[in-house]
Amino acid sequence: MKSIHAIRSFVRLASLVCLPVLALPVLRGEAAAGLSPESSLQRLLDGNQRFVAGRAEHPHQGEQRRLELTKGQAPFAVVLTCADSRVAPELFFDQGLGDLFVLRNAGNLVDEHILGSIEYAVEHLHAPLVVVVGHESCGAVGAALAGGHAPGHIGSLVECIEPAIEAAKGQPGDRADNTTRAHAKLMVAEIVKKSAIVAEAVEAGHLKVLAARYDLDTGAVEILP
Ligand SMILES: [Zn+2]
Repeated sequence: MKSIHAIRSFVRLASLVCLPVLALPVLRGEAAAGLSPESSLQRLLDGNQRFVAGRAEHPHQGEQRRLELTKGQAPFAVVLTCADSRVAPELFFDQGLGDLFVLRNAGNLVDEHILGSIEYAVEHLHAPLVVVVGHESCGAVGAALAGGHAPGHIGSLVECIEPAIEAAKGQPGDRADNTTRAHAKLMVAEIVKKSAIVAEAVEAGHLKVLAARYDLDTGAVEILP
């Protein structure tokens, strides 16, 4: 087994070489450092309720916050979601600058770069929560369900979603929606399985990794069981 020390050294090195801006010291005080996974989730859900109700506060978007954040960042949650233009985490969770560590690609897929980014946020920024958010009418899920040959690099996206099609097989209800839900849960399992840093933090009770689904019609985020 590759030692945790080797992984930590690699992340440290990567943060020096590739992430000079992200490697700034963690912001102290009012920011997220020290929040429990449960309080972080509550903060996300409260923001989503405001968004759904049309009472969004658009917090942390002014000059003062911008200047505060030049000292460092302490995002209280990592959100992995789809690149779909209708799915914008800072908007549907009603958060602002420095609040969320957002990772996006078509189909909210977990790969090596996503894992490295999550580990950076957990290990160095002490983010207490990771949420994988799938969504209604996801084109990547649709392409996987349609089957057949996907041109260019799109095939690599489709392949990653195939296990979810299998997992959702035979379930009652809408096939695309069942696949989206299964896929978000499989990505959560993948993160915990493939990342020793994440698994350790979960084991220690410092971190929760959850799957969720975003509804395009209502704007509501549902945490999946
Ligand atoms: Zn999508």
